[in-house]
Amino acid sequence: MRAELISTGTELLLGQILNTNARFLGQRLAKMGINVYFQTTVGDNPVRLAEAFNIALKRADLVIVTGGLGPTSDDLTKETVAEVLELKMLINERAMTHIEEFFKLRGRNMPEANRKQALIPEGATLIPNKVGTAPGMIIEKNGKIIVILPGPPVEMEPMFTGTVEPYLRKKEGKERSVIVSRVLRILGMGESSVEERIKDLVDGQTNPTIAFLAPRGEVLVRITAKAATEAAAGKMITKVEKEIRKRLGDYIYGADDDSLEKVVAGLLKKYGLTVSVAESCTGGLIAKRLTDIPGVSENFLYGVVTYSNESKINLLGVSPEVLEKHGAVSEETALEMVRGVRQAGGTDIAVSVTGIAGPGGGTPQKPVGLVYIAFADRNTAIVQRYLFTGDREVIRWQSANVALNMLRKYLLMYKG
Ligand code: AMP
Ligand code: MG
Repeated sequence: MRAELISTGTELLLGQILNTNARFLGQRLAKMGINVYFQTTVGDNPVRLAEAFNIALKRADLVIVTGGLGPTSDDLTKETVAEVLELKMLINERAMTHIEEFFKLRGRNMPEANRKQALIPEGATLIPNKVGTAPGMIIEKNGKIIVILPGPPVEMEPMFTGTVEPYLRKKEGKERSVIVSRVLRILGMGESSVEERIKDLVDGQTNPTIAFLAPRGEVLVRITAKAATEAAAGKMITKVEKEIRKRLGDYIYGADDDSLEKVVAGLLKKYGLTVSVAESCTGGLIAKRLTDIPGVSENFLYGVVTYSNESKINLLGVSPEVLEKHGAVSEETALEMVRGVRQAGGTDIAVSVTGIAGPGGGTPQKPVGLVYIAFADRNTAIVQRYLFTGDREVIRWQSANVALNMLRKYLLMYKG
């Protein structure tokens, strides 16, 4: 089944609201194994809506239209659809009663305009709306399925999952399939290097497919399989996943909804180790991300934001001479910070970050994006120099990633 989505609403075209309906429907249909080949957004204009609808009817088996079911005069979806399909509009008694009840329950008089919401094209099946007044509808004509849903996501989403999904499942019958994806999360290796290592797997793959995404300093490899059942798709994915894991090893820090902080918190718990954090340019981001994980309080004991030289001296014991000689953004300072914070926190391990997040403050010797990240345990301390590109937010996020990843790598090798 080929599907096409039409989102209506001038506010979408003006960029005033985000088209979350298209996202939601795209995700749900993908899960069901239904291919969405086109999405159109059109304003509240009957001529252009009819145009978009006619095009969709030609190339899709299933057309889903959202929005424009309200009581006001700019809501014209079902009227336009009925006209294109040459269907009469009839008052639907069930819909009328629902709308009257809706107002009665709230002790309000029903405005005359709401009567219009009970008009539906002849032969259409009503989709009940438990949240609002606008009913949705399913129309079958000339082998095509047309689904019309109201615009507000709080109404549209339950109507889709409650009524449209079961209806489509039934329609698909034996041809029914599912699409399942698994995402592998990778840190410390660029997108092209990742591809290089698994290129032979990517080439010539049709099912499962392998795709690359690179948001915010990490690389995601998405494996997607289409099969008759979730279990069958899962099996196909696992086979490819095993091979990818063999090639990428510890560069893969997690899968699907895993986050770096969740993985680190899990490892800290597993080995019963405690950690402290000294942050300069990340301004508490590492501490924030760690404390996002419930139950981390047994392992994350101490975090300080030492933004000024004085605070680095007073709270971490960084020596004024080191700051004077090498500057706050230097290997030496990062090392003194990490040793200092581990002692102050009395923890097993620690990380520290000092750098230039920009946009100002860079020099030819120390440009924006230069960050020193250090790690210490009871015996040793190490420091690494990074030069990140991107804006302030990206530099800070990547710095936190590297610091958390240092903890992860240490913990992976930890033997007690
Ligand atoms: P409508 O059914 O066209 O009267 O839409 C009512 C409201 O639903 C709009 O004012 C938006 O706030 C919301 N809405 C409509 N379409 C979408 C969409 N595609 N994505 C997210 N929200 C939407
Ligand atoms: Mg609208």
